[in-house]
Amino acid sequence: MSYFKELWDGIRTTAQGLRLTGGYLTKKGVYTIQYPEETLPIDKVTHRGIHEYDVDRCISCENCAKACPVDCIYIESAPDEKGKPSKGKAAIMTRFDIDYSKCLFCGLCVPPCPSECIQLGERYSLPGHTRDDMVVHFHEGGYPIQEKTEHAKSMIAEFRTENLYEKKRKERADRGIPTLRPAE
Ligand code: SF4
Ligand code: SF4
Repeated sequence: MSYFKELWDGIRTTAQGLRLTGGYLTKKGVYTIQYPEETLPIDKVTHRGIHEYDVDRCISCENCAKACPVDCIYIESAPDEKGKPSKGKAAIMTRFDIDYSKCLFCGLCVPPCPSECIQLGERYSLPGHTRDDMVVHFHEGGYPIQEKTEHAKSMIAEFRTENLYEKKRKERADRGIPTLRPAE
């Protein structure tokens, strides 16, 4: 490309950019907001945010972790007081971490869950300074799960009626894993 052609392209594209900027300056309307004080509404149907997870209803079957294409769900569990095995049965969740520096928000971890205790939620903000800050320790309580299906509603109702939330939290607390966030 000749020198003059490059010079002309530079002038032309700069003028195009200025015309675009000028257009916005003369238009009336709001193009930015004062985030995080102000936020835009999300589409509740299509939005895929940070997981909602009910640690108390999770049976540590690991189906979600197996379905994850990037292996960013880390699960560790221990047998409960009746000595039940930690895979696929009632067990005490000792670690349920999701690494959001790897998560694709694909949602493949959600359908295989037999307890419907994990789903993609509405939260999207996870500020941090290190890679470790991007790992959410859901076994500390998870984030409140929205009851989207009748099956999930009935399971949650049963847990509340039979006081199983309290029981599960005590089991984890006895193992030094306190519930730091409410799970319901
Ligand atoms: S949304 Fe996708 S990438 Fe993220 S934890 Fe679930 S399966 Fe893994
Ligand atoms: S699939 Fe559901 S029940 Fe199984 S470990 Fe994952 S969240 Fe827990």
